[in-house]
Amino acid sequence: MAFALDTVADVESIAGLDACEHVDRDMVGGILDEAARFFSEVFAPSNRAGDEIGARFVDGGVITPDEFKPVWDKLTDAGWTGMTGSPEFGGHGFPKVVGAAVSEMMTTANLAFSLAPMLTGSAISLLEEHGSDELRDKYLANLISCKWTGTMVLTEPEAGSDVGALRTKAEQNDDGTWRINGTKIFITWGDHDLADNIIHLVLARTPDAPAGTKGISMFLIPKFLLDDNDNPGERNSVETVSIEHKLGIHGSPTCVLSFEDATGYMIGEENQGMRYMFTMMNQARLEVGLEGLAVAERAYQQAAAFAKDRKQGRGPGADGPSPIITHADVRRMLMTMKAYTEAMRALVYDAFAAEDRSHHAPTEPERLDAANRLALLTPITKAWCTDRGVDVASIGVQVHGGMGFIEETGAAQHYRDARITPIYEGTNGIQAIDLVARKLPLDDGAVVSGYLDEIAETVNRLGDHPELEAVRHELDSAVDAVRKATDALNGATDINQKLAGATPYLEMIGTLAGGYYLAREAMAALPESNDPWMAAKISTARFYALHILPKVHGLLPSVTAESEVVFDVPTDLIGSDR
Ligand SMILES: Cc1cc2nc3c(=O)[nH]c(=O)nc-3n(C[C@H](O)[C@H](O)[C@H](O)COP(=O)(O)OP(=O)(O)OC[C@H]3O[C@@H](n4cnc5c(N)ncnc54)[C@H](O)[C@@H]3O)c2cc1C
Repeated sequence: MAFALDTVADVESIAGLDACEHVDRDMVGGILDEAARFFSEVFAPSNRAGDEIGARFVDGGVITPDEFKPVWDKLTDAGWTGMTGSPEFGGHGFPKVVGAAVSEMMTTANLAFSLAPMLTGSAISLLEEHGSDELRDKYLANLISCKWTGTMVLTEPEAGSDVGALRTKAEQNDDGTWRINGTKIFITWGDHDLADNIIHLVLARTPDAPAGTKGISMFLIPKFLLDDNDNPGERNSVETVSIEHKLGIHGSPTCVLSFEDATGYMIGEENQGMRYMFTMMNQARLEVGLEGLAVAERAYQQAAAFAKDRKQGRGPGADGPSPIITHADVRRMLMTMKAYTEAMRALVYDAFAAEDRSHHAPTEPERLDAANRLALLTPITKAWCTDRGVDVASIGVQVHGGMGFIEETGAAQHYRDARITPIYEGTNGIQAIDLVARKLPLDDGAVVSGYLDEIAETVNRLGDHPELEAVRHELDSAVDAVRKATDALNGATDINQKLAGATPYLEMIGTLAGGYYLAREAMAALPESNDPWMAAKISTARFYALHILPKVHGLLPSVTAESEVVFDVPTDLIGSDR
């Protein structure tokens, strides 16, 4: 993690930015060490209970497993949740990329549990950016300390991907507050027994609001209204109707919430709610991409330990039963897990570093460049990392053989937990559409071509290192393939051509990005290649270049080939024989 922070995110230069002057590289190293201890020793042991016992719905409220509360208290007491929060409200003001590294450890340790602080962090970003002084003064400090938690409340039965279809109503009271009525579904950590209050950030429509996303406003609705001293007092009329029974993340309550004349406070201006929600969603999309990385890391660690222990068959030259890690196919699986995980980490950290620079770089053009890079990388990070997280967790099950399908090893839990990540926070299909429809055209295509030029520049630098010739060669032809795909999409006049090619395109550019970051890491490792750990970085980049990167060539036709064939089979023949 430290290596990726240094070589890809250039954390030293981020620590040098004015807003981060209290941070230095040594301090970041100390934080990683301490976080590693805390999350592996204190947080990770709760993962199993979260899965087996899960959140339960009892007497109209949610009860978390007994193991969670003491862990939660230690987490908040130690201040881990306030890492990136504003110092004005009790946070530690660390750069987002350092927060991401800590968040990665927390999520690897217990994905379901980590969602409570994760969504609270997104709520904090939203309030910091769009909340009035009054709302910030009343709510921010307790959110940053995680004394209270935050939620993100968009989805309704008829409004999933199509957020603009939501119907929850908001009408103004005489005292300026708002009365909210409606039902929301799938609300993560929408109710629980860990914190003193829950602050819902809810999308709703005011009377006569325009249709679609242009008519959505945002409201802060606390579970408990604040008394005169700003402490939780009277219960607001937000009822938890039920929680969902799910494939994975059992420790995270997914709630149906009913708002019945609930009291809310408008955030910002009327009908601007979708714009504000994007602050929260963009942050959460990066965090969900990080979940793909985190679950992959845990699945990889577990599969590697199993493969060293389990003996079956004879490895090359062995005269008795050998650990399965000695078999080429198992080794290939483990290398695939390792290479994807390290590639994801670099991409995630680069995206968070772009976020830091978009806020704190010294000049306006630098901030704009970083914001554009972040905009491009957000859908790629969210979708590519979560799809790979599922793949890696699935390979983890495979490495375990039959024991992977049996719950007691825990390998299956990672797979089940990972499966939600390509769905929530905007499905990966929606991310791909965002990438081709909104991000490729950014600055007349200059943002994506600048990113591809940067990769081509790395191809040139690789030319100075004969040891990495295979990496240079594969990266060079992969970047060409992605340029062809980008040109084809930018030039397409038929909208279905763009939309049918969006998902394979996202996989192409994500796969290319992974190879690019690992190539940079390999170049950084070269001077110390006598160290086995550094040599492994070089081998991992070579493995990725030779075994994974060529996938982009197989994906190219799905982007460029005519798309009408997608619709050729009539709708009534899809799913039926005649
Ligand atoms: C465990 C869990 C936790 C969640 N947490 C929250 C939360 O905290 N807050 C919250 O507000 N929501 C939450 N959600 C909701 C989640 O964000 C939605 O499930 C998701 O956005 C997809 O919406 P949907 O389920 O209605 O699927 P649909 O929108 O019905 O999509 C079904 C399929 O159709 C595709 N599709 C839909 N529209 C289009 C289109 N225009 N073009 C191409 N393809 C399309 C989708 O990609 C998907 O494959 C959660 C969901 C789950 C399961």
